[in-house]
Amino acid sequence: MDFESFFAQALDGLREDGNYRVFADLKRHSGEFPKATRFREDGSTHEVTVWCSNDYLGMGQHPDVVTAMKDAIDTCGAGAGGTRNISGTNHYHVQLEHELADLHGKESALIFTSGYVSNWAALGTLASKIPGCIVYSDALNHASMIEGIRHSRAEKRVWKHNSPEDLERKLAADDPAAPKLVAFESVYSMDGDIAPIKEICDVAERYGAMTYLDEVHAVGLYGPRGGGIAEREGLMDRLTVIEGTLGKAFGVMGGYITGSRQLCDFVRSFASGFIFTTALPPSLAAGATASIRHLKQSTAEREAHQDRVARLRSLLDRRGIPHMDNPSHIVPVMVGNASKCKWISDILLDNYGIYVQPINYPTVPKGTERLRITPTPFHSDADIDHLVGALNALWSRCALARAVA
Ligand SMILES: *Cc1c(COP(=O)(O)O)cnc(C)c1O
Repeated sequence: MDFESFFAQALDGLREDGNYRVFADLKRHSGEFPKATRFREDGSTHEVTVWCSNDYLGMGQHPDVVTAMKDAIDTCGAGAGGTRNISGTNHYHVQLEHELADLHGKESALIFTSGYVSNWAALGTLASKIPGCIVYSDALNHASMIEGIRHSRAEKRVWKHNSPEDLERKLAADDPAAPKLVAFESVYSMDGDIAPIKEICDVAERYGAMTYLDEVHAVGLYGPRGGGIAEREGLMDRLTVIEGTLGKAFGVMGGYITGSRQLCDFVRSFASGFIFTTALPPSLAAGATASIRHLKQSTAEREAHQDRVARLRSLLDRRGIPHMDNPSHIVPVMVGNASKCKWISDILLDNYGIYVQPINYPTVPKGTERLRITPTPFHSDADIDHLVGALNALWSRCALARAVA
């Protein structure tokens, strides 16, 4: 087989469909978040404002976090030096797991190298090792959950997005004696909608099912201590497992689950994706711990974040720029056409120094192509004015429909 031409053909297919991903080559400016230098393909550079980062609160440059990471490197060096079992468990990992268990009001926590790995490994292990387990998965669950469930080879039922009624129908149709696991998210990252956690837990409880909640887009951002939507709604104790990331609002990297002591010990002891991989660098664990500690006691970032989101939405409304109405911090500006979406994003970057990655099929359904905008506490009034002014100009140039107020 001619492997090279096979690869080239597959890539051409992506390009023809408009799905080929081009990365923006950036150098972020610590201390000037969300500013960055962009490197063009010809080697020239220009300054941009990042409007699509998941470092939602700018914690990736917070002095407490940066200092904790530098101190940990000075103390322990660069890497962990092994898997958790073979010399890789550093005191910083143990502290981080305590911090996370406390954040979610659980007995234990277990950290992984990413949120993706935490979902893949925890769901894969639970669903495969619990005999006869049936998994009930929300239709819009993240790829990491879908892959974990697939890997488990457990039976799977997909229930209608955010519908406790459909979940109940699916649960009722199965053998009452079968072990059941309900997997869903709190904030969904593309539409920014929020699950009815209480109603889902009520249904799950009626059928004796475990509940597994991905709070990746909510931890650090919601709840009095940044514990997520379940904390805000007083529901943390209703969930068997709360999963999160250290890479988004906490600004560093890594993922985790929290739950009972036995459950976390079970995953620790049986999950291949936990056991056979090098532990996170101690500096990451130290940085994440500092970030979580800070956000447990400081609400200033969360308040400023919501204020920026509200301001952006109201200015978009004033100009009639259509954006999806949702109760979260994610502002999807709807373009509804793949090539226009890509074109607008290119012009924003090249002519206005505004970086928003276009979101096209297959990440979102065709016809709902969008710019997924994520304001942070560090976007100034002037940044917001500049963004809305640019969108307004491009909306006219592209003859895109306006929303009626
Ligand atoms: C980003 C994301 C993950 C993966 O987290 P990482 O730490 O980036 O690997 C898991 N779940 C959802 C819903 C996500 O958006």
